[in-house]
Amino acid sequence: MDIITLIEQKNQSEPEFLQAVHEVAEHILPYIEKNPKYKKYKIFERITEPERVIIFRVPWVDDAGEIQINRGFRVQMNSAIGPYKGGLRFHPSVNLSVLKFLAFEQTLKNSLTGLPMGGGKGGSDFDPKGKSDNEVMRFCQSFMTELYRHIGSNLDVPAGDIGVGKREIGFMFGQYKRIQNEFTGILTGKGFEWGGSRIRPEATGYGLIYFIQEIFKTQGDNLEGKTITVSGSGNVAQFAVEKSIQCGAKVVTMSDSNGFIYDAAGITAEKLAFITELKEVKRGRLKEYIDQYPEAQYFEGQKPWNIKCDIALPCATQNELNGDDAQKLIDNGCKYVAEGANMPSTSEAVAIFNAAKIFYVPGKAANAGGVAVSGLEMTQNSLRYAWFKEKVDDRLHTIIKGIHETCVRYGREEDGHINYEKGANIGGFVKVADAMIDQGIV
Ligand code: NDP
Repeated sequence: MDIITLIEQKNQSEPEFLQAVHEVAEHILPYIEKNPKYKKYKIFERITEPERVIIFRVPWVDDAGEIQINRGFRVQMNSAIGPYKGGLRFHPSVNLSVLKFLAFEQTLKNSLTGLPMGGGKGGSDFDPKGKSDNEVMRFCQSFMTELYRHIGSNLDVPAGDIGVGKREIGFMFGQYKRIQNEFTGILTGKGFEWGGSRIRPEATGYGLIYFIQEIFKTQGDNLEGKTITVSGSGNVAQFAVEKSIQCGAKVVTMSDSNGFIYDAAGITAEKLAFITELKEVKRGRLKEYIDQYPEAQYFEGQKPWNIKCDIALPCATQNELNGDDAQKLIDNGCKYVAEGANMPSTSEAVAIFNAAKIFYVPGKAANAGGVAVSGLEMTQNSLRYAWFKEKVDDRLHTIIKGIHETCVRYGREEDGHINYEKGANIGGFVKVADAMIDQGIV
């Protein structure tokens, strides 16, 4: 039986995981054919099987005194090159398939950063939306009351993801400290005053734009005056928009799970500050933007991909950009798609981008800035020291440049086109695979 059929049979009810495996296999399997040592050691079979999966009950009591039960997960995918590292997601759509796809992608992404981090991902089907701060705290405390025994600064260091920001990291860190009676770097994305790193909140969004800048450099161009469409309005989207504005680009859309706003005049720094306050402090909905800025438009239940742009940055969630959306983007002249989110483009969309030979950068390369600075947060925690903002930003820049170079090295095709997806897949794979061979059959 061939490898793919075997993996499909073993993971039949996990469509997102299989989608991620297929997309990676497309480039890795031909590479393995040319490098038979990886075949001999069954690296692809092993890399697609998590080292460990933990599933647990998370009971908590809501403000009305009612008992609620959620499901918690941690997928410890691969520790060949360092402790497991990857975010925690709190969203009703969380299940094993979603977390296995994220942990698999994370393994290759972390390898691309050049830092010593293995791959993991976790979370819960808990929905923080509409919950009071006290409910979120009780949930986070219950979640950590089980998770604490499976993580550690040399074992597994989770971070935030969808639905998990500084507030949730704070509640979980507090509970870990209380149970273990030690102050240690077991989570990243912490507040700066209690062990967090400068630039961590900004890192994913900034890194995304730094990556685009690297591509533009190869074209002798820059971001000045370019039109950008962004989806999402959370952590990644906010800082991608901030950096785009700083670079002189015009961002015309942002979205949430209800719809998108289109501001033809461009989202300015002041308008972005309004969105940040709306999302992070008031925990409101994006449609409130048009009450404040009536010249903009709001489209309920729609996505921003039919708006004309030079660059599209999907920064919300997986499979939010399908084949029709991809075709619309190309028909409207979009030449660059860089994924702030993980696997936001469906397989059909990716095929359309690649056939059109536009610059398409998958999440594992384009959004690696976040985990890179999480890695730097771990380093600072080990040193018991906090670097200045400039130093962290400088390192982030260097890491993104390195990822870009790796993609170019492994992704250059015969006609000279750079296939960033192929480059990221092979570039991320090689280091993990070689480490696995060195460490024996474990
Ligand atoms: P946030 O929770 O801060 O923001 C998520 C945004 O996406 C919100 O605007 C949310 O809208 C929207 N969204 C979430 N789910 C859906 C959905 N099913 N349909 C439409 N919109 C949706 O998360 P992040 O910004 O941290 O993460 C966004 C993406 O970036 C994810 O794919 C994540 O894995 C990826 N990523 C994040 C990193 C990080 O450092 N945070 C690092 C690397 C990747 P609403 O407010 O309505 O829920």
